[in-house]
Amino acid sequence: MSKKSYIPPVRRIRYLRISLTDSCNFRCLYCKGENFRPTEELLTLPRLELILKVFSRFGLETVRFTGGEPLLRRDIIPIVEVASRYVKDISLTTNGFLLKRYARPLKEAGLKRLNVSLDSLNPEKFKFLTGGDLKKVLAGLEEAKKYFTGIKINTVAIKGFTEEEVDQLLKFCAENGLHLRFIELMPVGGLPFFKEDRFLPLERIKEYIEERYGKLEPLGREGSGASKDFYLPSLNLKVGFIKSVTEPFCEGCEKFRITADGKVHLCLRTTSGVDLLPYLSSEEVLEEFAHKLLKLKEESNRFITLNGFAWFSNEKSMIGLGG
Ligand code: SAM
Ligand code: SF4
Repeated sequence: MSKKSYIPPVRRIRYLRISLTDSCNFRCLYCKGENFRPTEELLTLPRLELILKVFSRFGLETVRFTGGEPLLRRDIIPIVEVASRYVKDISLTTNGFLLKRYARPLKEAGLKRLNVSLDSLNPEKFKFLTGGDLKKVLAGLEEAKKYFTGIKINTVAIKGFTEEEVDQLLKFCAENGLHLRFIELMPVGGLPFFKEDRFLPLERIKEYIEERYGKLEPLGREGSGASKDFYLPSLNLKVGFIKSVTEPFCEGCEKFRITADGKVHLCLRTTSGVDLLPYLSSEEVLEEFAHKLLKLKEESNRFITLNGFAWFSNEKSMIGLGG
């Protein structure tokens, strides 16, 4: 049997990424809003609890809350509190705008890890790309540092934009004890932004860093396996590269996504999701469905591995998928 035709069985729902809302207070040019029904009507707190309770019987180790902007959910603190009853490793990805208000309550509610998206340290460039206010994000980060260690900064790499940001981002993260991760731009959602040549392979950023700052020492892959991490001794900094396009990490994937409209997506690269809402009537019904999900995930992994990695969903946007 060739290596490529062996697909490891999927026995666990090890990692679950939940998009808590498709609403956002930013409008990043590479992401986009959709008009689902309000998420609060779909993924209500009791439904989220049911999902986490049942999925925790399937080996759930990590849940990541994302969006849209997850801090726009008014019940974000109770959501984290409830999640911490069932899952040890609870993390959240945010644009940081509301972090100043929420950092402490999130920590008290049981949040373990925090990722903050930051594409530029130049206020005008930041505004252009995200529509947001950099000052607020930096104030949020400052507050978050009091309560969280190992905060990760997510920077989407964009050709003609990010090259000039790298030095400042490295310096900023080194000075603030942050872990910097670059993410390859994924053409999800068929946005006009992707029509132009915006793709910047992360290998180029890596080469640039090594030329200027010295060798990056490999640290391996972090929890979900998506990021290949390195240590940069000259700055005493951890730098990661998420090469979702040029080097996707799909082997043995045990990552599941629930979208803001209540669909389970088995992979970022597939266009459709399985509607979860009809299976939320009881623990028994959901448990039976979770067994099916493991089988579907294995099939999805097989399909992606055998058919190559070259396409992305044009129907779903990142704001609904949750990154
Ligand atoms: N609003 C939050 C934020 O921006 O951090 C959470 C949701 S956002 C969809 C999650 C992550 O996906 C962010 O780090 C964002 O930069 C990333 N992202 C969004 N669109 C992307 C794209 N087209 N390609 C690669 N990453 C993307
Ligand atoms: Fe909003 Fe995050 Fe998408 Fe930017 S990347 S529009 S902050 S959901």
